[in-house]
Amino acid sequence: MAKVIVITGANRGLGLEFCRQYLAGGNKIYACCRSPEKAFDLLGLKQSAGDRLEIVPLDVSNSVMLNNLPHIISEPVDILINNAGVYGPRDKSVGQIDPHEWNEVLKVNTIAPLMLIQVLLDKVITSNEKKIILMSSRIASIEDNQKGGSYIYRSSKTALNAIGKSLAVDLKDQGVSVGIVHPGWVLTDMGGANALIDVQTSINGLCKVIENLNLTNSGQFFNYDGSGIPW
Ligand code: NAP
Repeated sequence: MAKVIVITGANRGLGLEFCRQYLAGGNKIYACCRSPEKAFDLLGLKQSAGDRLEIVPLDVSNSVMLNNLPHIISEPVDILINNAGVYGPRDKSVGQIDPHEWNEVLKVNTIAPLMLIQVLLDKVITSNEKKIILMSSRIASIEDNQKGGSYIYRSSKTALNAIGKSLAVDLKDQGVSVGIVHPGWVLTDMGGANALIDVQTSINGLCKVIENLNLTNSGQFFNYDGSGIPW
């Protein structure tokens, strides 16, 4: 059966590929992005998808836009994918961390996903699938941290993981499952030219992870290939 899927940061990179693959599966997509008028790839997809693709203006750090979302998305949401993210300043070592830059990354990567979940939770609970996805990163793993550094991005995603685990516990009785996922090191603007896999491979794997997500494995940290990642 066709599912209703909300995706943030849907205009490029992994978000765009989520749109492509879920549209190919016959689903209805609300593709959220900051500048719909410049989202040429999404506008191209809409030519064949028609009403199955709604392009929704959303800066995830803008509370007015977030609060308006339930008026735009007026139906149950089977899968809510918190994909939008920023890396922030790279290569800053101890002594160079700027709290304002850190705050900007936390707003998008950590705070915005929970704010979005709050405004759409009723719609997820009343859907058939009842799934929430948090796009994390392996770099969030404390156990896996051999290299140090990346204070800003790393901490934003580790905190996101903590949020995901609490959500899984708190929403279990309402039938909502939560997947915390790492997409792999992927060839996107964020992943850069040295990345190891393409967006098709990453999203193909993540769609299977999402399909297999249930109340028993809710709250776990999954790699795109379905394997587990240590906290
Ligand atoms: P990307 O190519 O840089 O795309 C980032 C997306 O997030 C863009 O659509 C961007 O929109 C959107 N975004 C940023 N700030 C936003 C805001 N305030 N409001 C709404 N949208 C916003 O990155 P990606 O590689 O596709 O990454 C997607 C997710 O995967 C991120 O959460 C990232 O942390 C995670 N991830 C990626 C990798 C990797 O190797 N690529 C690895 C681990 C985790 P604009 O076009 O408007 O800027």
